[in-house]
Amino acid sequence: MKKLPVSLALAALFATPLAMAKTVDVVASFTVLADIVKQVGGDHVNVKSLVGPNGDPHTFEPTPQDSQALAKADLVFVSGLGLEGWMDRLVSASGYRGEPVVASTGVTTRSMDEDGKTVTDPHAWNSMQNGVIYTTNVMNALVKADPEDAPAIRQRGQKYIQQLQALDSWAKTAFDAVPADKRKVLTSHDAFGYFGQRYGVTFLAPVGFSTEAEASASNVGSLINQLKQQHIHRYFIENQTDPRLVKQIASATGAEPGGELYPEALSTASGPAATYQAAFKHNVNAMLKSMR
Ligand SMILES: [Zn+2]
Repeated sequence: MKKLPVSLALAALFATPLAMAKTVDVVASFTVLADIVKQVGGDHVNVKSLVGPNGDPHTFEPTPQDSQALAKADLVFVSGLGLEGWMDRLVSASGYRGEPVVASTGVTTRSMDEDGKTVTDPHAWNSMQNGVIYTTNVMNALVKADPEDAPAIRQRGQKYIQQLQALDSWAKTAFDAVPADKRKVLTSHDAFGYFGQRYGVTFLAPVGFSTEAEASASNVGSLINQLKQQHIHRYFIENQTDPRLVKQIASATGAEPGGELYPEALSTASGPAATYQAAFKHNVNAMLKSMR
């Protein structure tokens, strides 16, 4: 770097807020949300995802570094609906003074009976319709944090929303073309409820909404019967969970592997699901292939 005379360097320093718009330091709870923030914010944001690629957002254990990142953040995003059970404690431990922005605000939630309790399904982003809601919430929060860059952020956000809407109609059309009795998928845990509702796909899983839950022997037994009765011949493992249980169940029914799905964690940058859009496309294509 070239050295500037002190007076010039100082002038440059003080001119910065006027001449150059700021970069917003953002912490997002998990990779899907971090990617949405990056796509909308572009150069105007620095984004850190607490849960890393291929990481399980339900059972995450924050480190002291995560706490430090939170303390310094201008904005914090969570998905909400009970996904990040570890977040409240982390926020108060970090001393972060703001309120985390809940990206799922405005989503029509779905719930399920789990061991006699009604639980809200947190996996809203797996429907691209909800992806649009997430993006809108992210865009509004970024504009508020960085009003100078509002036009650029809005432009990026609107373009991204159009891309998500195109993916939504692509998936809808593709699944509509598959006979209803073939639109069934076995996977590790109930992460595709909103997806299934939107695109008309039925999902079966041995574990409920959270990967923290354990499958009971009787649940597994009835799931095996269900799979046999419904002639489900393919099963999927998930990139962020232990595949053993779903593999055992599959082998008890004779089902064959259909590959890997990315329901709640992106892959690393070189993997097949490095972005939210890539993960969605990968999931849809893998499911469609298994239904043929
Ligand atoms: Zn999950």
